[in-house]
Amino acid sequence: MCGIVGYVGNKENSVRVLIDGLKKLEYRGYDSAGIAFISNGKLNIQKEKGELVNLQNRVNLDKKLDIGIGHTRWATHGKSNALNAHPHRVGKFTIVHNGIIENYNELKEELKKEGYDFNSETDTEVLCSLIDKLYKEDNNILNVINKLKNEIKGTYAVGIMCDDYPDQLYAVKNKSPLIIGVGDNENYIASDVPAILDKTRKYIVLEDGDYAKLTNSEIKLYHDGKNKDYKVELSQLDASSVDKQGYPHYMLKEIHEQPEVFKKTVNPYLSEGIETLILKMPDFTKYSKIRIVACGSATHAGLVGKQMIEKFANVEVQVDTASEFRYSKNFLKEDELVIVISQSGETIDTLEALLKAKKEGVDTLGIINAKDSAIARESKMVLYTEAGKEIAVATTKAYSAQVALLCLIALNLSYSKNLITKDGIKDILKDVRNLPSYMEELLQNTEEYKNIAKSIKDYNDIFFIGRGVDYALAMEGSLKLKEISYTHSEAYAAGELKHGTISLIDEGTPVIGIVTDETIASKTISNIKEVKSRGANVIYVTSRKDEKDNDFYDKKVIIPKVNDLLQPLLTVIPLQMISYELAKLKGCSIDKPKNLAKSVTVE
Ligand code: GLU
Repeated sequence: MCGIVGYVGNKENSVRVLIDGLKKLEYRGYDSAGIAFISNGKLNIQKEKGELVNLQNRVNLDKKLDIGIGHTRWATHGKSNALNAHPHRVGKFTIVHNGIIENYNELKEELKKEGYDFNSETDTEVLCSLIDKLYKEDNNILNVINKLKNEIKGTYAVGIMCDDYPDQLYAVKNKSPLIIGVGDNENYIASDVPAILDKTRKYIVLEDGDYAKLTNSEIKLYHDGKNKDYKVELSQLDASSVDKQGYPHYMLKEIHEQPEVFKKTVNPYLSEGIETLILKMPDFTKYSKIRIVACGSATHAGLVGKQMIEKFANVEVQVDTASEFRYSKNFLKEDELVIVISQSGETIDTLEALLKAKKEGVDTLGIINAKDSAIARESKMVLYTEAGKEIAVATTKAYSAQVALLCLIALNLSYSKNLITKDGIKDILKDVRNLPSYMEELLQNTEEYKNIAKSIKDYNDIFFIGRGVDYALAMEGSLKLKEISYTHSEAYAAGELKHGTISLIDEGTPVIGIVTDETIASKTISNIKEVKSRGANVIYVTSRKDEKDNDFYDKKVIIPKVNDLLQPLLTVIPLQMISYELAKLKGCSIDKPKNLAKSVTVE
């Protein structure tokens, strides 16, 4: 959510460095953008509503700068307009901020009494005024920044420039992400590494409570009023992973990367046989119950995991939404394992849920994509999904990598508990080897997905139905559709329809019926027939190839049949592709859907 880029240096760098950096962070989601920079001793601020290109078209990209901060804002306090866009300036200070200052109202009232006026509706301007006030009381910026933690409640990553020190850039972080890029006679701050990747691979991760002072030649890190040592990391991120590589959208590129991601995620555990799976994973047998806590698609991955772990390993699994878990009575048992799932490893609700579980003394495991992220660092144990950088806001490859790891946990437990036969394992290992080519096969059916998209494009309400694991997939399919095609859609447990929702089914209403679980196929098919009888346009997504009965659907998408443990990894592909084609047909902003952010760092 939101992107911060800051630069300090004395090389021939221009405004372009800020705009290029912000471009690389566009995937995080935003609705306005702005920059502040000092050029020839003069401070310039420019802000624009909407896409970054609006700002880019208004600035002189070639203008040399010595120091600057840039921001893409995802509005939380105040409308998305140029006035509320960052940077904000009060007195001698100019700042950019990611996060939320929770006590901004109280602070605002106090600051008003001290004579401060406010031009914007943001909590950020309040923060900037507070910094200015504290600086008037104690003319030492580092002291001021250190005092902030006692004054403000909330989440913040802040980039700060001060008129008195035009060659110094300051930064402070609490909960919202921030890194420092280490250059040669120039240094950077950024929300994430891709922003600086074409300038430097060296970076420092700031931890909560850290603050920093940067000049072109020096980086000083502090914590609680004291100097802090830091480790400079070298990013291994492949620059091509932040490139579309010929695909029209990152989302399509990432959907197509799934066969490779599956191999990278699963092979380290299985390529040398099932024993490696036991050696390389924690011992799950000591837990009587597993609690999965996550947000959005990661929750849906968790729901697939629940089905698999319960079915293959006979262990109870409960899935909770992180933002609810945080404020509920959780009744965690001592021998319960809490698994948190997050692509970015920054999702604030998931992070807070993890901290709550840790406080209660239970073991925690993170299933995370971004290495060394906050959630990865805080989890007792970590399993990494090897999805690489995911840029499109709507997740595809990271979701399926999460599902893959959860399926491996199910298999690990099933084997450890002696619940699976040798033949069963052989069967699964064979399917694991074949799965990437089955995925490729499904990815080829573009015309089929386009036709389906055409047939549903004029409808504003689309239903997804399924039972068991197919219901979990229906939820993910429905979310994908809402996210990128802005079409209202709901996922229903197929058996629930007639308890209310079926009243919404009319002539032509699109219903995507998912049937891959043989044990309950006939029940779901009956439910599909019920909606077909009421005029629905049924798109039947199934692994049942040789079916005699063919009068209950309008279009059929056939998925290769594999072992139940791996089936969801194939089923999700047509659902992702239908959403993609529909969004394309409707001319939506596929990679950066409106109002959404990639890394959700506000609560
Ligand atoms: N809360 C701040 C605002 O609404 C920052 C939002 C962000 O993280 O982009 O301006």
